[in-house]
Amino acid sequence: MAVGVLALQGSFKEHIVALRKLGVDAVEVRKPEQLSGLSGLIIPGGESTTMAKLAEQYKLIPALKDFGISGKPIWGTCAGLIFLADKAVGQKIGGQALLGGLDCTVHRNYFGSQLNSFETELPAPPALAEIGGSENFRAVFIRAPAIVDAGPNVEVLAALDVPSGESGASSPGNEAEEKGQKVIVAVRQGNLLATAFHPELTGDTRWHSLFLKMVPKGGKADVPVKAVEESA
Ligand code: GLN
Repeated sequence: MAVGVLALQGSFKEHIVALRKLGVDAVEVRKPEQLSGLSGLIIPGGESTTMAKLAEQYKLIPALKDFGISGKPIWGTCAGLIFLADKAVGQKIGGQALLGGLDCTVHRNYFGSQLNSFETELPAPPALAEIGGSENFRAVFIRAPAIVDAGPNVEVLAALDVPSGESGASSPGNEAEEKGQKVIVAVRQGNLLATAFHPELTGDTRWHSLFLKMVPKGGKADVPVKAVEESA
């Protein structure tokens, strides 16, 4: 079983290290043909407009979309989460390509600029707790996005209290902040996993293990491509 990591820019090396630590054959992906034969794919954090531009330049967008449509698991962290979302809002949105598939609206820089980056402990969702380790996990947010709206088929794995007046989601108009609600920072929907934080920077490989549980062992897609396209 080989798992790819999109290696155009961002924290792909750290994901490769985490996967190899778990004994997985981890492959850097830069060309469409490198996706064939892979059982799953991680799209790392970085800068989503740059990543999208490079993906277009390398003619990767159709192949990445097909990979997701085929039912093979994709995990997007941070910029990768933005890339997987059906809709992105927030600063500097200007025609950036999104792969889509995740029935979510994501705010690209929800928590503000680089200076507003932070780390916190969050309770491990049951799926993560099952793997073992501590009851919490360390969540590293770097110029992080957040999910501001999620469809009915999206399973919320982690959410965060919105620190009043501190988010970058340009109040007024940040409803979650005004109502003192939580914003969503980790979700799962079918073959897609998405986290606004960076597990690959913590040394805790449980999120990687959780993703690997979604990866079919035989290297084949779970769902036939045609069936997915017809129901989409
Ligand atoms: N907010 C960034 C973007 O728009 C993502 C930051 C990250 O991946 N660490 O691309």
